Amino acid sequence: MTSTDPTPSRVLVLNSGSSSVKYQLLDMAGSTRLASGLVERIGEETSRLVHTPLTGGDKRELTGPIADHGAALKAVSEELAKDGLGLDSPELAAIGHRVVHGGLKFSAPTVITEEVMAEIERLVPVAPLHNPANITGIRTAQALRPDLPQVAVFDTAFHTTMPEHAARYAIDVETADAHRIRRYGFHGTSHAYVSRETAKLLGKDPSEVNVIVLHLGNGASASAVRGGVCVDTSMGLTPLEGLVMGTRSGDIDPAVTFHLERVAGMSTDEIDVLLNKKSGLVGLCGDNDMREIRRRIDAGDQRAALAFDIYIHRLKKYIGAYYAVLGKVDAVAFTAGVGENAAPVREAAVLGLEELGLAVDGELNAVRSDAPRLISPEYARVAVAVVPTDEELEIATQTYALVRSGT
Ligand code: AMP
Repeated sequence: MTSTDPTPSRVLVLNSGSSSVKYQLLDMAGSTRLASGLVERIGEETSRLVHTPLTGGDKRELTGPIADHGAALKAVSEELAKDGLGLDSPELAAIGHRVVHGGLKFSAPTVITEEVMAEIERLVPVAPLHNPANITGIRTAQALRPDLPQVAVFDTAFHTTMPEHAARYAIDVETADAHRIRRYGFHGTSHAYVSRETAKLLGKDPSEVNVIVLHLGNGASASAVRGGVCVDTSMGLTPLEGLVMGTRSGDIDPAVTFHLERVAGMSTDEIDVLLNKKSGLVGLCGDNDMREIRRRIDAGDQRAALAFDIYIHRLKKYIGAYYAVLGKVDAVAFTAGVGENAAPVREAAVLGLEELGLAVDGELNAVRSDAPRLISPEYARVAVAVVPTDEELEIATQTYALVRSGT
């Protein structure tokens, strides 16, 4: 770099799935988003790239076979180059990767070295669906820009502060330790971001407030955050535990799995698919989109109504549980696709909890907005908030801070 070159301030955020890559390019100096997009159905004939320039220009869509993650990232790079944002630019400071499982070792964003890769690899048995895809994404990005720092931001990191009594399952300790079976929690980047933003909304420092964060998307999880520190969360060894989700059952008696094996003759893989992909809202009523479920309820559909009630009942139980865990709650924050958009879910989740200081104001709850906002009436002891999550911004912020600190 010459002395006239600007300090690199762009960060590319990559969220790599087994057959997809979501990306966002941000400029951290001006806190602006430059572009975002998605490549899906990688490895199929019908791959699709949707690219959105965010500083002007129209959304572009490309269809046709994209063989692998390498080809996907190359196609993304070509699209970015058309907007003058090519990944070969000296302005790119780092690439930040969402990595789902960091186990206990990674409690903070980490510059990726071969040792770090080996540890992410070692965690594949506890995250078989996610970590291999993340590894592929990292290798691909390393090949594209071997000169750049690549940073891993772990979904589990925020939850590594959970005390042992919240993180351990009540099973034989030797067996648990031998196989690293414990509660790790996920969506941590979102829980961290939303709990901090909630404190900001209340005009307080995160260390001064206790927050229950309800991340309700297609995957869903709750967390109890005391003074900015996570003390419990609803997902466990895998993202299957906890709330009723779009396609996952959430909490279930583990004996159901023995029963399915012994009585229904299902294999372990079949049970895995049943509980992860064919359960939750989709298993209960055939739809996992809350918009469609609400439409069906309004049309008098009983199955959709029961699915909604089961979803809300579980949500309420977690609010109550985390209220008890925290002792004192300053705010309950709703986030992600359902939490940010579905007013009836927010209303139903706190209905009847007035004695706990929780209430929702009908008018405030009905407002549609992208901004963090309070939806509780003034008299309520506990603030109820809608706080849009922004995992990409959080990954970019953590990545940039780490690179700037020279760690
Ligand atoms: P996420 O995983 O955070 O992207 O959330 C996706 C889910 O959010 C979808 O499956 C829908 O159930 C829900 N969702 C998105 N938009 C709305 C909306 N306007 N009203 C109700 N639910 C919505």
